[in-house]
Amino acid sequence: MQYYSTNNKKQLVSLKKAVLKGLADDRGLYMPTTIPKMTNNFIQNIRNYSFSEISFEVAKAFFSDDLPYKELENIVKEAINFNTPIVQLTEQVNILELWHGPTLAFKDVGARFMARLLGYFSKRSEQKINVLVATSGDTGSAVANGFLNVEGIDVTILYPSGGVSKSQEQQLTTLGNNIKTLEIEGTFDDCQRLVKSAFVDTDLNEKLTLTSANSINIARLIPQSFYYFYAFSRLKDKAKSLVFSVPSGNFGNLTAGLIAKHMGLPVHQFIASTNVNDVVPKYLESGEYSPRPSIATISNAMDVGDPSNFRRMLDIYDDSVEEMRKDLVGYSFTDDQTIKAMQEVYSNYDYIIDPHGAVGYLGMKNYFSDEAHKTKFKEKDRKKISDCNVVIIETAHPAKFAETVKKAIDVDIVIPERLAEYLDKQKQTTKLSNKFEDFKEFLLNTY
Ligand SMILES: *Cc1c(COP(=O)(O)O)cnc(C)c1O
Repeated sequence: MQYYSTNNKKQLVSLKKAVLKGLADDRGLYMPTTIPKMTNNFIQNIRNYSFSEISFEVAKAFFSDDLPYKELENIVKEAINFNTPIVQLTEQVNILELWHGPTLAFKDVGARFMARLLGYFSKRSEQKINVLVATSGDTGSAVANGFLNVEGIDVTILYPSGGVSKSQEQQLTTLGNNIKTLEIEGTFDDCQRLVKSAFVDTDLNEKLTLTSANSINIARLIPQSFYYFYAFSRLKDKAKSLVFSVPSGNFGNLTAGLIAKHMGLPVHQFIASTNVNDVVPKYLESGEYSPRPSIATISNAMDVGDPSNFRRMLDIYDDSVEEMRKDLVGYSFTDDQTIKAMQEVYSNYDYIIDPHGAVGYLGMKNYFSDEAHKTKFKEKDRKKISDCNVVIIETAHPAKFAETVKKAIDVDIVIPERLAEYLDKQKQTTKLSNKFEDFKEFLLNTY
C-alpha cells in the first residue's frame, strides 16, 4: 500500500516514509491510496473473533505488503493488550469504553500501535528518531507511555501551560528516560503550530530525524478503526442500523470510523459531537469551513479550533459536503449542557461518564430529536434513525477529570491504580515561550 499527501495525490510514499515523516513536505497529511475492503465472510462471522483478532484482520488489510504477518501480529498483540468493552445503557444505546489501556484514554490504541511500528522500522536504520508531540492532554501521556524505553527513539512532548488537568500533567512529566516534556506558555494551537513548523524547518531536518505521533500520523489513525469493528461485533441485534456518536476534537477518532465504514463496516451514520469548538458541525450546516482559535472548555481534549484531520475527511468525500452529510451529522454543546448530561447519565443509568463522553451522549440525544435531520430522509430511512443501535464512544476514564466529575455529580471517583501511581512522582519539565525560535534552540541543544 502506498500513501499520498492530501496536498498532492501524485506524491506517493511507502508506509515507512509516511510513518517517519508524519506530515508530508508540502504539509499535507498522508492517506492510503485505496481503502481496502474487508470480506463479507469476515463481517458475517465477526462475532467469533476476539478484539485482538479483529484488529489483526483489519491491520492485515492495510499493512500486509509492508511487514511480515508474524511481525504485524506481534505488534497488534502487544499494542492491543486490553479490552474495549461495550456497556448497554438502554435497549438502543451503548457505550464503547475505550479507556481500559495504560493511560485510561482511547489514544492508547493508536499510540501503542504506532510506537511498535516505528520501533520495527527503526530496528533497521542506524539513525535515532525524534518523536515530537503536541498534546491537549491525553495524546501526550498515551504516546509517552507507548514509547517509554523504546530503543532508538527520543520523545519530546509539548503541552499548553495550565491547559491540561493536574493528573494529565503528572502522567506526562514524570516518566523521564527517553521522554522529555515542554510546558509551553500558550494554547494547544500554539503547541501544534510549533510542531508543524519544526517538520518543515531545514536546519532541524538536516540534523535530526523528526517524526510526529499526533493524530496526524497515519500509524496512529488506522488502528483506531479496529474498535469500530469490535463494537459492531458485540452488538446483539446486528440487523438494526448502526450509528456512532464520536466526541471529537482533532477528528482522528471520527476519521478512523469513516475509514471503517469505507472498509465495509455497516454503519448508517456518524455523529460528530463537539463542545463549543464547533467548526465541523458548522461546516456540515453551511458548507463553509472557518477555522477559529480554540476556546477552553471542560472537555479540554477537544478544544481544537482547526482540526487537523478535517483535510482527510474532505478527501474521503471528494470535497463534497453533500456526500459527507450522508454519513455525518454534527452537533455542538456548551459546558453547562455537558454538566447536565453527566448528571442525567448518573441519575438515570447509574453510570459515571467523563465530560468528553458526555458530549457524545448529548450528540446521541440530539440525533434522536433532530426533526430537521430526519426530514432529509425518505420514510424507510427515517425508521433507521429511530430504530437504530447507537454506540457512544467514551474516550477517557472519568477519573482523569475527577474535579469536573466531583462538581457535576458530587462523587469522589476511585482513581485506578495505574493512574494513581503517577500522582506522587516528581514533575520534570522545561518551561518555554510559544516562539518557534526558542523551540528550535531547545531541540538543537538537547539532541
Ligand atoms: C483526544 C481526545 C478526544 C478527541 O479525539 P480526536 O481524535 O482528536 O477527535 C476526545 N476525548 C478525549 C478524552 C481525548 O483524549
